[in-house]
Amino acid sequence: IIDSKKFLVKVYNIDNKKFVHLTDITPFEVYKQAKKDFVSNVSHELKTPIAVLKGAIETLDQEEKDKDKKRFISMALKRINQMDTLINDLLIIARLESKEDKVVKTQIDLKRFINDVYEDLSHLTKEKNINFKNNIKENSIIYGDEQKLSILFKNLIENAIKYNKDNGVVEVNSFENGKYIVVEVKDTGIGIPKKALPLIFERFYRVDKSRSRSVGGTGLGLSIVKHITEAHKGKVEVDSKLGEGSSFKVYLPKQ
Ligand code: ADP
Repeated sequence: IIDSKKFLVKVYNIDNKKFVHLTDITPFEVYKQAKKDFVSNVSHELKTPIAVLKGAIETLDQEEKDKDKKRFISMALKRINQMDTLINDLLIIARLESKEDKVVKTQIDLKRFINDVYEDLSHLTKEKNINFKNNIKENSIIYGDEQKLSILFKNLIENAIKYNKDNGVVEVNSFENGKYIVVEVKDTGIGIPKKALPLIFERFYRVDKSRSRSVGGTGLGLSIVKHITEAHKGKVEVDSKLGEGSSFKVYLPKQ
């Protein structure tokens, strides 16, 4: 970086001489930042009107007795909830990308933490009769940003429930691997086709649009997972078999 400009540096070795090639990428960086700022500003501006609309529609839903009108109200409620989820996910990404954002690590009791995350998702588990197994040993400790990690594991466990079959299993395991503690979220769900695996962490990517639409979601969850893992200097791996289930492994540095 020279005088707040950013350069892409390439070094060539020709006839035992070194050549340095600099490309000024400042305009590209300025454009990227402007795009992030725009999405962040729009999301902030939409948050309040959506919250007001949601409150109003919920009140109408409680008070309306007419069956036909109630049908329209629940349609509106479903759509407003989708918008609310999307805006919340966009705001999470905007916050993660802002320069002021920091990872504040504390000591976390992993088993309790995962139980708390699962409890928050209990509204999703009843319909499907999901069998949840928290296989983490008592007194397992990780160091991480509790708020961010709870968003990360909420996304992974929510997917493990959403894309599961009736009476399916969601399992959370943890083990050590070199300098990492690995936390695995495993399900017995529909699985992910091999060719989609490299794409699922991309923003807005959803495997099968029609299948995913009925399940609900924004296509942002796994990109948030990747972002938070990398902010912890960790990595995330996926393994999946179509029709049998998926396993997501989050590697977090021990310290
Ligand atoms: P979404 O909001 O659609 O769940 P995500 O970014 O969380 O977005 O996931 C991207 C896509 O990856 C999903 O639409 C789904 O097709 C697929 N996917 C994610 N997790 C699982 C899983 N545990 N089992 C099967 N498919 C999954």
